[in-house]
Amino acid sequence: MPMPDVVTRFAPSPTGHLHIGGARTALFCWAFARKHRGVFTLRIEDTDQARSSDESARGIMEDLAWLGIDWDQGPEFTTSDGKKIGGDPFRVGPFFQARRVKLYNEHLMRLIEQGKAYPAFEKPEELESKRKAAVAAKQTYRYDRAALREMPDIKDRLKRMESGEPHVIRFFVPDEPVRVQDEVLGEVKYAAGEVDDFVIRKADGFPTYHFAVVVDDETMGVTHVMRAQEHLNNTPRHVALQKALGFRTPVYAHMPLICNMDSSKMSKRDKAKAARAAIKQASQKEPGVASRLASETGLGEKTLADFVAGEIDTVEVATAIGARLNIALPEIEVADFRENGYLPEAINNFVALLGWNPGMKLPDGKDLEKFDNAFLCQHFSVERIGKTSAKFDRTKLMSFNADAINALPDAVFAARWRAWCAEFSPEIVRRVPEARWGILASAVKARAKTFREASKPCAFAMLDDGAIVFDQAAVDKNLLANDKQGLALLRAFREAFAAAFPESSGDEVGAGPSHAIIETLAKDRGLGMGPVAQAIRVALAGVAVTPPLGETMAVLGRRSTLARLDRCLATHHG
Ligand code: GLU
Repeated sequence: MPMPDVVTRFAPSPTGHLHIGGARTALFCWAFARKHRGVFTLRIEDTDQARSSDESARGIMEDLAWLGIDWDQGPEFTTSDGKKIGGDPFRVGPFFQARRVKLYNEHLMRLIEQGKAYPAFEKPEELESKRKAAVAAKQTYRYDRAALREMPDIKDRLKRMESGEPHVIRFFVPDEPVRVQDEVLGEVKYAAGEVDDFVIRKADGFPTYHFAVVVDDETMGVTHVMRAQEHLNNTPRHVALQKALGFRTPVYAHMPLICNMDSSKMSKRDKAKAARAAIKQASQKEPGVASRLASETGLGEKTLADFVAGEIDTVEVATAIGARLNIALPEIEVADFRENGYLPEAINNFVALLGWNPGMKLPDGKDLEKFDNAFLCQHFSVERIGKTSAKFDRTKLMSFNADAINALPDAVFAARWRAWCAEFSPEIVRRVPEARWGILASAVKARAKTFREASKPCAFAMLDDGAIVFDQAAVDKNLLANDKQGLALLRAFREAFAAAFPESSGDEVGAGPSHAIIETLAKDRGLGMGPVAQAIRVALAGVAVTPPLGETMAVLGRRSTLARLDRCLATHHG
């Protein structure tokens, strides 16, 4: 099968979760391929063996599949609903770089034979001291070829290499300027000598990122490379290598940075930053908080001290601290957003606007910003990618998500929220019978901005009737105040409820009829709904916050509602 005219690729390193910036790269590459009926490739760049893991590669694939970004060639993957993604229709795989070492070595040997690459034997310490000297002299360190001049004959070098002496392979960078034509940034020029003889095969026998990327982009037929701007400075190396290897140069488009609202670069470190700030704040009230956290998290004093000092920034440490201090760390990875109840369609829409926009207006003159992936695939264009960094506006994302939830038909919301709860809040699913799920879902949907928020007022459904803890302030205000007015109302409500739903009627109670009882009672007493409703809420949930009460009782059913009313009355001597 011939390769199509457009082949894009997303090439993550499997060293962690999929970052939201990675999701944007994938989305743009995917949309571009779809628009041009091309091929979207997923390639796993796992040549850094120490930092890569299969688990992380799988996690990245799960996140992409969750976003609906499917790849035409790449590792095979089956989605949770049984759809198969990936494969090798053009026979250019495998798609894990660590499994392509033989291919890299073939191209590498070709370069050596042509005098365009050479084994180098300097010890890391030697290079490090030269680097330090350059830094001390305020100069940019560049590999200086001194050793090459001492032993210029490639045969001597190959002999040393074959004898097993530790070595790397370096690319002999031609002494000429390199021009990179970037579709977003225009022409970027690098003067001769700016790029030094960089390593293309490491001492462990694996190619470096630069070499593997160039060989793979060529052999996988990649025509368009869209990636984060931080890779721009790698591009002259890639272009120089392509030339030396006789490869095509694909079209390059480097995407703008994604920044926080304060213009700092959005990164995984933001989690550490937030956790560190929380420790600082907590230590004002509790000077020994760091020691307490060290022992409670099991991280130990040294790790905690290093973390506080900013010497380590790992997500794991930040997460453990966030959990102990009960603070929410900023969402950075796709998995964070998923866990917090964002919808993939809202994420895609929002992420698509990070550095791109369709350039269309609504009838009212405002920019068209709301669209789905089908629209993106139809209208995506590299020309509309901006140069300036994009701001990650969390308030806007939240409002996109709320709108996306609102747009879901009730039954779809119910099913998707249930699937989310099954994964992230399973207790609700376990406790609320499936037949009553729709009632709960429609009760929380209107005010929910995320699936997680939808679950918050459902704490009442996650406890045994006898385990409700009555919040004293809520009790004082809603039951005991005004000479125990709330308790009296509760007692009257209990009688009316029991009369309306006798035992013989079974456990199902309608939301409408339950609500009507409250209305009637309030009217009879000449009161607003508030005092009656708040008293009932305290009885059913321990606090004065629940979803609408008719639905709350319908979810609990007759037996639990009565049990909770009775327990509350008994506890507070009603
Ligand atoms: N593996 C690189 C990364 O995860 C991407 C390389 C590229 O797109 O060329 O940042």
